[in-house]
Amino acid sequence: MKRLACILLVMLISVLSGCGNKNQMSEKTVFAMDTVMTLKAYGPNGETALELAAEEIDRLDRTLDRGREGSDIYDLNTAGAATVSRETAGLISVASEISRKTEGAFDITIAPVMDLWGFYSGEYHVPDSGELADALKTVGGEIAVNGDSVTLESGTKIDMGAIAKGFASQKIAELFAENGVTSGIISLGGNVQAIGSKPDGSPWIIGIQDPDGDGIAGELLVSDKAVVTSGGYQRFFESGGKTYHHIIDPSTGCPAESGLKSVTVVSGDGVLADALSTALFVMGLDRASEFWRGSGGFEAVFITDDRDVYITDGLLNCFDGNEYKVIT
Ligand code: AMP
Ligand code: MG
Repeated sequence: MKRLACILLVMLISVLSGCGNKNQMSEKTVFAMDTVMTLKAYGPNGETALELAAEEIDRLDRTLDRGREGSDIYDLNTAGAATVSRETAGLISVASEISRKTEGAFDITIAPVMDLWGFYSGEYHVPDSGELADALKTVGGEIAVNGDSVTLESGTKIDMGAIAKGFASQKIAELFAENGVTSGIISLGGNVQAIGSKPDGSPWIIGIQDPDGDGIAGELLVSDKAVVTSGGYQRFFESGGKTYHHIIDPSTGCPAESGLKSVTVVSGDGVLADALSTALFVMGLDRASEFWRGSGGFEAVFITDDRDVYITDGLLNCFDGNEYKVIT
């Protein structure tokens, strides 16, 4: 009897301490993929999960950064064909598929155009039409993926910048799940991944940055979702009184002037959300709305050059903002 009472007492203490640990927050900041990343995990395994997440981000950066000698993408761009990890090959296949679905608004073969404008080196330059035509020659080039071997059409080079953070956030979500972390929030620049809900069970509240200031233009209440924003304000340079941002319309080779200041995509799939935030920005409101009507798996918030806010109707119950119009 005494023994049973002891066992029950031990069980009670572990349950109580487990409850207490649910709110225990671990936090880590890392710099990778050209971005300051903040990772928060709740619960007793948070610390371990964050260590593993930081290692994972570093590994992905070393694999996907086209500027790093020895990365899968560096090798592929340099040789035109390479044997890469299954993971990289899979991601390139997904990117090609999204490129096809978005009719080229999203296209990882944009690399030479990014280089021409100096977005990769930071040595900015406004190209003339001859330079643009030259850089555009290989944009849209074929990418053949066969198992873990990838071959690029002659001269084609790829850039995973519009999708790498989404992939990383998805990987971290998986890693958290494997380590029993059911509540967390990771913010990789414009990419936010909500893991589960807040420790108290309520949804995470994610602010959408006001493209014209430091405040927010609205809030999204989400659980287990990626919330990814692409905006011209995130990276740009000025020359001759004009602003040039880093989201390129592959059909012109120039920064997309689509009437939008930012696009936020909400999806359970981090890679899709990241790729589509870029693609919908290029498409502009009308084309993007049409695309949304014809697809599934994501919702979006658009902020136009006139500062109007539009949300797709799947967000009606989770968007909080002053004035907005609903896309149906
Ligand atoms: P994001 O911030 O996710 O919209 O991605 C922007 C980054 O993706 C740029 O810095 C480029 O590296 C790359 N990029 C720019 N335009 C495109 C495009 N139309 N399709 C695919 N990648 C792009
Ligand atoms: Mg993106």
